This record gives sequence, structure tokens and C-alpha cells, in this order.
Amino acid sequence: MSVTRREFFKLGGVSAAAAFFGGTPLMTGCASDSDKLRGTRESTTICPYCGVGCGLIVSTRNGKVINIEGDPDHPINKGTLCAKGSSLYQVAVNPLDRRLKTVKYRRPYGTEWEEISWEKAIPMIAERVKKVRDDTFIEKEGNFTVNRAAGLAGLGGAALDNEECYMWSKMARILGISYLEHQARICHSSTVAALAASFGRGAMTNHWIDIQHADVIMIIGSNAAENHPISFKWVSKAMEKGAILINIDPRYTRTSSLSDIYSTLRPGTDIAFISGIINYALQNDRIQKEYVVEYTNAPYLIDPHFSYNDIQGLFTGYNAEKRKYSKDSWGYQLDEKGIPKKDNSLKDSNCVYQLMKVHFARYTPEKVCSIVGCDKDTFLKIADLFTSTYKKDKVATIMYAMGTTQHTVGVQYIRSYAVLQLLLGNIGVAGGGINAMRGESNVQGSTDNCILWHILPGYLGIPRTQKDINLETYIKNNTPKNNDPMSVNWWQHKPKYLVSLLKAWYGDAAIKENDFCYDWLPKASKPYPHIVLFEDMLAGQIKGLIAMGQNPLVGGPNSNKEARALAKLDWLVCADLWETDTSIFWTEKAGGNPVTIKTEVFLLPMASSVEKEGSISNSGRWVQWRYKAVNAPGVAKSDLWLLDALFREIRDLYAKDIKNGKKSALPDPILKASWNYTPHGEEEPDVHLVIKEMNGYDMKTGRLMENFVKLKDDGSTSCGNWLFSGCYTEKGNMTARRGTKDASNKLGMYPEWAWCWPVNRRILYNRASVNRKGEPWAPSKWVVKWNGAEWKGDIIDGAPKDGPTKKNPFIMNSEGVGKIFSKDLADGPFPEHYEPMESPVPFSMNRQKVNPAAVILPTVAGEFGTSEQFPYVATTFRMVEHWQAGAMTRNLPWLNELVPDMFCEISPELAKKKGIKNGDRVKVKSKRGEIEVYALVTKRMKAYDLNGKKIEAVALPWHFGPGGAASGAIANKLTPHIGDANTMIPEYKAFLVDIHKA
Ligand code: SF4
Repeated sequence: MSVTRREFFKLGGVSAAAAFFGGTPLMTGCASDSDKLRGTRESTTICPYCGVGCGLIVSTRNGKVINIEGDPDHPINKGTLCAKGSSLYQVAVNPLDRRLKTVKYRRPYGTEWEEISWEKAIPMIAERVKKVRDDTFIEKEGNFTVNRAAGLAGLGGAALDNEECYMWSKMARILGISYLEHQARICHSSTVAALAASFGRGAMTNHWIDIQHADVIMIIGSNAAENHPISFKWVSKAMEKGAILINIDPRYTRTSSLSDIYSTLRPGTDIAFISGIINYALQNDRIQKEYVVEYTNAPYLIDPHFSYNDIQGLFTGYNAEKRKYSKDSWGYQLDEKGIPKKDNSLKDSNCVYQLMKVHFARYTPEKVCSIVGCDKDTFLKIADLFTSTYKKDKVATIMYAMGTTQHTVGVQYIRSYAVLQLLLGNIGVAGGGINAMRGESNVQGSTDNCILWHILPGYLGIPRTQKDINLETYIKNNTPKNNDPMSVNWWQHKPKYLVSLLKAWYGDAAIKENDFCYDWLPKASKPYPHIVLFEDMLAGQIKGLIAMGQNPLVGGPNSNKEARALAKLDWLVCADLWETDTSIFWTEKAGGNPVTIKTEVFLLPMASSVEKEGSISNSGRWVQWRYKAVNAPGVAKSDLWLLDALFREIRDLYAKDIKNGKKSALPDPILKASWNYTPHGEEEPDVHLVIKEMNGYDMKTGRLMENFVKLKDDGSTSCGNWLFSGCYTEKGNMTARRGTKDASNKLGMYPEWAWCWPVNRRILYNRASVNRKGEPWAPSKWVVKWNGAEWKGDIIDGAPKDGPTKKNPFIMNSEGVGKIFSKDLADGPFPEHYEPMESPVPFSMNRQKVNPAAVILPTVAGEFGTSEQFPYVATTFRMVEHWQAGAMTRNLPWLNELVPDMFCEISPELAKKKGIKNGDRVKVKSKRGEIEVYALVTKRMKAYDLNGKKIEAVALPWHFGPGGAASGAIANKLTPHIGDANTMIPEYKAFLVDIHKA
């Protein structure tokens, strides 16, 4: 009998009773198994760093953390941790004593921090929020209601718990904030847009443990071995079973060293590489034909007016003046019933399959290698290996991260992966999919709760001025219709989700007669993404910013410019565990001149992940509960407490105005909001009330919803986020479950461990893992199967009662099939290679150098350099020892000892040419700024060979800044304010620099 360490103690009767559900930590009160930990209390938690979501056990004695280690029962990490996870102890017990323990205040033009109490800080901040809101509120634009608090902005936070994210998202919209953004915009917004445009949902399709079932793994645009180290546990497991690991990266990384085959790639050329593989698959008939015909739009006929002009590099409908496509010619041909016409023989010249053959035929191996700078034999070997999984029982997965996402063509990078995987029949199956590796512990949850300007919780589009003028028009404009009886078209239920959200937000005030208070939602008159937010801040349009755990001075592009923008604010609130680089932007240390900077700054001390309770969602959509182990240091509070206290204070101010007969800007949404998380006057809001609100209630019975299926659009149900419906039911807190029993298909899905959206489905689009009869393509690793009466295995994607022949598998797409050709994006229905905004190469494929639809703001003109001025390609990267913008890790001695300062990597050839030796101080300069760093001369860097022309590169980690115990230059001083055409994710991963010895 195999017994886990936990089970051993349970068997031995040493452990206290464990709760399967509910609000008590599983291990609370249990004795520990080592002398060191004897007599301690233990609680479980989830790592606050990357999106793998590893479990840890926190041991405390007398209210102090004395040990933190990997949780051996956790199905993903099984007790193992990476360097960052292992250092969580130093966050809780910081040997440098750098955790914030008091509220700090910097007055306008002040040169020092002052300490103030919460009793003073909360009213001060509330007054400032109210003043800016009242002064800048726009109720109408022309005849249209917009209800926008134009001078307020919010940032963060991907490290908050789901309940905090939800509360932040709700509060911001109640106040009328449109400038609401967080880390997801700048790290994975392109993922959401691309995957949604292909499959219907924007999340990682499979999950970490599932990687073990792949036959071929391609890691591209990611150094997973360093940045998602425990994901490699499952990569290694697959390799032990014979899987091939392919790595494609501009640098030779630790991931490369573990791979079976590695190819270099010039930063900014992934689409060329992947399009070459797509062409290889098409030319060699390496497609899973039955899957392609049945489950993708390859047979669908496109409007005959559609075409691609290979010389111009443009699809039909382009307007050069507006830098925008009209998509009139990108639609399907419809029959008399409005159903798309198809040619299942795939021979019609207007069918997607034939159009794609023509489109991708241009990506010959020679062309690919001349753009990418890679070796032809290696390219062909990779193409052959990857496309070998077109066989029904073979499968490949793609793992990627920010090397892929952060480009002016970032969305189309991911689209190219989607097209390839659909052709090979690799979506919905075990060991397949597209695994977008999220870099922050809850960036999946913060995205799901939509702390983003363009969406409301559950990915409901924000209403647009002039278009969505009332609830009826919003529903009409935003609810897809489809006449195809094969299509589930799940978004037809959107009205239920929006009305239930409005009920959750506005409670009794939301009634049918007033459109459930739809009018109160802020309406967007233009996009407000991160880059626009900072440009408008610099222009003086934004007066106050609340940053919840986000550090844009280090993480934002063109950070010199973003620092100048911060100096234009009247006030800035930073809520964090540490003194962040952003919070000290005004100091000389950070390059500011305090006596000239008016911005008032509040730096609020917040609790860490082991000092509060709540849930977070990992990349694989597992929503996992964390318990509070100890109190936060000093007067530090949870973000939930802060948001609740602040909102109530603001509400009191508006109530006072009413009482005093004073006019203020639209007080009703604030005064009438459903906001009661401290029903008995408690100090700390009840986090369980928040997650229950997210889950939703039947308003008539007061019972929690079982899931979203029974949500209504008549006001009889409430649900703060329909995706989370089912996470906290009458059975209890499903996210706290710790059942280690696997499902019947034994794939490592662990359906009783935590909870997963939607409805605890572990593999998205799993209905595509079987044929029309419900028989798995790969019987040895079946995900679902139809037994003649019901579905077995994972929760079936789609209506469970429908048998296999009845419905198409991609239920969130109105067609019901995977989209090889997608009309949903701004820059083309097929991916096409364009050069980065700054590139050493004039033209690659055609006359169009950069993404024709990329948004170039008038205010950024003149901020781009040429290859004559800046001859080297630069890219940014991450390391295992530090995390994102560094505030968390640069204060931990264990990690600082490993990587204490900022550096750049260059090749020995470039070093020789520039007279630079390993360890020299060097200056790296772009059109936006200059930084001084150490040079690391390494063979990991190598020039890219473009038809004999050698292009050298400079690679920079972006974790450093002026604050923290370990400080260093900010890499993002060099990166540009230019974004993708669809999401405006910044182009961090390919720009031009020069380098010389300091
Ligand atoms: Fe696991 Fe990521 Fe934490 Fe490392 S940083 S322990 S891989 S969750």
C-alpha cells in the first residue's frame, strides 16, 4: 500500500480531524512529523508567485511562522518547490525587516515619508477619490449617458485573491472608473484575445498535470524551466515516457539545455516559424482530416470578395488612413437559413482550407529561415516532429509565455499556434492544447474578474458609448446569434449573466423597470489600455491613481515616460507588502527631484498570502483556497479590508452630501450598491460572503446557485461572476477541497481537488477529443466518452444531455467549431508575419513592414529608433531567482544572494567587437533611454544569420529597479509605448538598442 506522508499521520492518529470542505484549514492543529516542527499548527496555502499554483504547508508556533515547505499531497507539485516558492518563508519572516508595517504618506513636494494611521489615511484617500470623481465626472457625452469618473484610474492586481479582484472590479465600476487595468494587459492580454478568437475562451486549454500525456512538447516564447519550474515536473514525466521536447527561443536557456531539439529565433519572428510548420503540414497532408472537417471551420466558405494581397501585405478592407480593416469581406457565405455554407471535400477555392493553403504556401523553409535566422535542417526536423502528431493517437502541446505575447503582432503569434493545433487535431485532447503559462499566482483570476477596461467579470464586454445605449441594445449588440442547429452558441446566455451581475452589484435597486441599473455602468468612449492610461496621465487627464500591488515604474514600458506621468498626478495610492519602486518614483534614488514633484503619495501596508484567507486561480483555471496562518505585521491589512473600508468611507461621504443637501456627481450607484460584507460590524470583511456573491444566489430562496445553468435574465438570480458559479454552493466551499482521488480516466485531473471553471471542467473543448460517435481519438488517454446513455470522464464541454452527434464541440464560438479563419481580430483572419516596430530588417514578407493595424498613438511619434542608430535587437527575459517587477523577491536575501544586480547578456562576438569583457559595466541605450548594467558575456547568445547577414542581440532581465534590498537599472526604460492591434499589449520583446562600455 502506498501511503503519503499526510496519510501516514492520519493513519497514526496523530493528525487532528481534517475537513474536506469548509472554512477551516485541513491541517490546522495537527502536530508535525519532525522534531523541529513538533507542536506547531499547520495550514495549507498556494504559492504567491507564478501561475503553476503549487501547494505549501505553513507551520506556525505562538502566532509566528517557523517553517514553510512544499505540500506533499498537492497533486501538481507533490511537495517540490522552485527557488521562489522555497523562499516564501522570507516574505512572512523577512530577515531584512523590509515588510511595510505602517501607513506611509508623502505630502506634495515632500522629501521624506511620514507615518500616519489608518484612521487618518482612509478618510484622506476617500476624500481625494470623491473630489476627483466629482470634479471630473462625465454623465453625458452629447445625448449619450456615459457615467465615467474620467480623472480616476486603477491598476493591479494579479497577486490579489479572487475575492479581492472581484471587489476591486465591482468598486471601480460603481465609482465609474474606465481607466482600470492590471498586469494581465501587459503580460497575457494577447492570449485571451487570440484563444477566444480561435476556440471561444481565452484561457490555457489544459492544465499542468496534463502535460505528461503529450508525445511532443513545443516550448516557444518561454523559458519554462526557470519561470514555471514545477511545470517541468510534468514535462520531464512526459519525456520519461518518450515525449520529444522542442525548444525555440532567441536565447539558449535552461529550457533549451533540457530539450531534445533547439532552434534559435530572432526576436519578433515566431509567426514566420510557425507558419512554416503550418505550410509543412499542409504540403505533406499532415492534418487530422476527420477532426479538421468536423470540428474546425476549414470547410466553411468565405465571401468571394475576401483575399490577401501578397505584395501589399494586406487583407481586403484595409483603410490606411485609419490603420484599420473593415471586415465586410471576411464573413462566411450563408445559405437561405443563415447557416454558413460548407464544402466538406475541402476543395472549393473559397473554403477556409484552400484559402489557408494559398496563404501559408509562401512560408517555405527557405523563407522562414531567412526571416528567423535559424538553420534549415533544424527547422525541417522540428516541423517534421511536431506535425507527426497529426495521427489520431498522437498529440502535441504548445507551452508559451511572454516571449510570445508581448509583440505588436502578439495576438497573431498565438493565433498561429491555434491554427497549427487545430490542423493536427490537438485541441480538447489529453496532452494537447495550448498552454498559456501565466506568470502571476492569480493573473488568471484577476483576468476572470476583469480588472481591465474592456470587460466586466466573466468576460462580459463593457458597454460602449453611442452603441450600447441601454440594456436592450447592449444585449442586441453583444449576444451572438446562430441558426445552425449544430451550434450550442453558449454566449446566447449572456443576458442572464449580465442581469445576474447587475443584481449582485446593485441588489434591490436593480429592477426590470430600470434596466437593472444598467445605466450606472461606465461607458467606454475609446480604449483605455495601460499605454493609453499612462499617455493620458502624462497629458494631465488623470488626477488620482490607485495601484493595488502593481509596480509600473519597473513593469511598464518606456518607464521614464511612465515616471513623468506619475509626477502629473495629484495623488497616488500604492497598496503593497513593500516599498515598491513605483511608490518611491519621486525620490532621488529613483531619479526624481522631490521638490519639483507635487504628487501626494500614500503607501499602504498589506498582508501577504499567508496572512489572509481567499482563493486564487492557477493557469490551469484551478481555483484553490488559501488559509490565514498568521496575522500581518504591524498594522498591515488585507486588500479586501482596504477595498471595503475605502468604499464604505466614500459611501459615507456621499451620504453626508445628500444629508446636507449638497450636490455631488451621480451618488446613486454608490449609495444603492449592494455592499455589506461586514454584516455584524466586523473589522474584517467576510471573504466567504464575497465568494458566495461571486457564485450567485437564487433570490427567491436565498440559496446558493449550483452553477450558472439556472441563472436568469429576469432579476430572480444574482451572480457576481458567472464563470465562478459552482465554486461555493450549498455543499460548501468547493475551492477548498483536497480530494486526491483521480477521475475514472486516470489522467491526473483530480476532479475533487479544489474547483475549476467552468463547472469543474478540467480540459476545455473536451468534446473535440472524441469523434461524432463519442469514441475517443486516443483510447489510451481518453478524456471523455459517450457510453450510449451518458458522458464519462471529465465534465463534458457543452450540454451534458446531448449525445455526441448532436452538437459541435467549441460551444463558446457561435459556429461551434474551432476557427482556423477568424473574423474576430483587428489585424487579419489568418496570422501574417510583420516585423516589430523597431527592427533591423526593412521588409520580410511584403511591403508592409509592421502590423498594419497596430495602434500608434500620435503622442508616441518620434519615440522609435532606426537600425542605423541602434543596430542590435534587444529582448527582455525573466529568471527563476526573481519575480516580475521584483518587489517581492528583491527584498529576500536568499534570492538576492543568487542574483544581486542587473545585467545584460551578449554574445562573445559582440563583446569582442565592442571591447567588452565579462563583468564590465556597460551602457545600453535605446531611443527612449539609457541604462548602466553589468555585462554577462555568454555563448547562450549568438548572432542570427539572415542570409549571411549577422544580427546580434542584447538580452535583459526586467526584474530590477531602484527600490528593494537589491536594486539595479530598469530594463523597461528602453522599451517602447507601442502595442498590439487588438489589445495594445506592449512590445517588450523586440526593440533596438546600442551598447558600449561604460
Ligand atoms: Fe511553483 Fe511557480 Fe511557486 Fe515555483 S513560483 S513554487 S513553480 S507556483
